[in-house]
Amino acid sequence: MNQIKSDYLVIGSGIAGLSFALKVAEHGKVNIITKSELNNTTTILAQGGIAAVIAKDDDIEYHAKDTQIAGAGLCHSDAVEIMVKEAPQRINELIDYGVTFDAKDDGSFDLAREGGHSKYRILHVADETGKNIQEKLIERVREHPNIHIYEQHMVVELITDHHVLNNLQSAFNVCFGAYILDEKTGKVKTFHADYTLLATGGASRVYLYTTNPQIATGDGIAMAYRAGVRIANMEFIQFHPTALYNPGSEPFLISEACRGFGGILRNASGERFMESYDKRLELAPRDIVARAIDTECKLHGEHCVYLDMTHLPANKVRKHFPNITSHCKENLRIDITKEWIPVIPAAHYVCGGIMSNLNGQTSMHNLFAAGEVANTGVHGANRLASNSLLEALVFAHRAARRVIEKKRNTLNNVLIPDWDDTDVTNPQEWGMILNNRTELQTIMWDYVGIVRSTVQLNRALRRMSTLYEEIEDYYKRTKVSLELLELRNLSAVAYLIVRSALRRNESRGLHYMTDYPEKDDKYLKDTII
Ligand SMILES: Cc1cc2nc3c(=O)[nH]c(=O)nc-3n(C[C@H](O)[C@H](O)[C@H](O)COP(=O)(O)OP(=O)(O)OC[C@H]3O[C@@H](n4cnc5c(N)ncnc54)[C@H](O)[C@@H]3O)c2cc1C
Repeated sequence: MNQIKSDYLVIGSGIAGLSFALKVAEHGKVNIITKSELNNTTTILAQGGIAAVIAKDDDIEYHAKDTQIAGAGLCHSDAVEIMVKEAPQRINELIDYGVTFDAKDDGSFDLAREGGHSKYRILHVADETGKNIQEKLIERVREHPNIHIYEQHMVVELITDHHVLNNLQSAFNVCFGAYILDEKTGKVKTFHADYTLLATGGASRVYLYTTNPQIATGDGIAMAYRAGVRIANMEFIQFHPTALYNPGSEPFLISEACRGFGGILRNASGERFMESYDKRLELAPRDIVARAIDTECKLHGEHCVYLDMTHLPANKVRKHFPNITSHCKENLRIDITKEWIPVIPAAHYVCGGIMSNLNGQTSMHNLFAAGEVANTGVHGANRLASNSLLEALVFAHRAARRVIEKKRNTLNNVLIPDWDDTDVTNPQEWGMILNNRTELQTIMWDYVGIVRSTVQLNRALRRMSTLYEEIEDYYKRTKVSLELLELRNLSAVAYLIVRSALRRNESRGLHYMTDYPEKDDKYLKDTII
């Protein structure tokens, strides 16, 4: 038996996982699992910042209202209220961990404004907010004696009732931990815990073009779905309007804060085209800006549009956006203070995910979810910029408080078998894995992207079903590996997105259907699978 026990099992080392771990570690032993290095997360890439009501002329009601407007009628108002109300406390905790948000000369926070926000309320650390948060959280977890970190360990499946040998809890739908692949040895270990938190982040790698890092393959959503946990609102995928257009290279985000700072979107003819789409111009919600760019590119047969910052004070642009300035210089030889930046939309954020309540509890006992993997109800049909780091912090905190209150549960009598891979082989069909992954991502980009239709979605579903069956068949015959597990998870997530999209015969928020271009209040509810 190769079983590792702890009070708390935390899967994922981004803002949700690490902030949860630091809190529960005061009450028991914590194992943090991460499939890459501790700092290989989406969190580290966050540029713009984190929203909170700090300014004197701001109010939690305004923040809640902006969030609800973006969410197009589907936000859960109780979750939104909690998030905006608890934001200042969570920000103070980050400061206690050592995060140093930018301040003005008078000592007050240098708050930025982003699309959809009616006030200046974005706390940031230049354009590297996520990096600063990630680094400080890592420092704190590394020094905590109750926290054990397992890098290069990838969760294969959650352990649930049907794995349990003596079947004690079968009536309850319980999570007992997870089977986890040690990527260095190729062995699958059994991690047994009283409480498990899924903080595996998003799934935007299911699309060919994305702003997300390699790790964002929707593993948590896929494994929860396979375990029978409820998943909601997977049709709402946010496409960031302005990823750097630089074909053949890894994606790079041109932060919304650039538009908040005064950046102007222009088409190849130099027109400020947002004037024809929305009176809020470049600061309209992301779905509107992304669709406008998509339309402009299609109308004029162009691959990209441009973000113009050349009219803004050069020294201020360099000071606020050092990372973007140097990336454009090094990779495209563009001086953003003098030349326009080529940009295109790219898959950025999954608004839906594992349904979790106001305390992060999922529909499975002892299984919690926080961060991008979760659907708490705060984003509804569209996420407001800089609300996701905040949502992760607030609901990870509430999940931690909940499991601490619940104290230990009684899992000691449960007999869990070790992972059995005696009947499988290692055929090493890497070519097949790579081809299937690209095929899947291309189908999603072509048929399930910014603008959709029933015909396209059905076409995607047919192709996906064949792929799904092939991948499952291969999985059953093959020793697990990171590449195979990610492919399997991506195909499950793709399937969930398409099925959810097909259930919503209307256009709302991020879900735009050419054959149902209007909102229909018959669909004013979550799509639950
Ligand atoms: C370029 C970019 C800029 C952004 N800017 C902002 C911003 O300014 N403000 C804002 O609010 N939001 C922003 N976002 C969104 C925000 O960064 C993410 O939603 C948030 O960081 C997610 O945090 P998380 O803790 O849920 O997941 P992540 O930070 O993605 O962490 C997920 C973790 O889970 C691990 N993991 C995944 N699967 C497995 C598995 N099977 N086994 C083991 N480990 C696993 C990963 O290795 C990783 O450690 C941005 C996103 C991107 C891509």
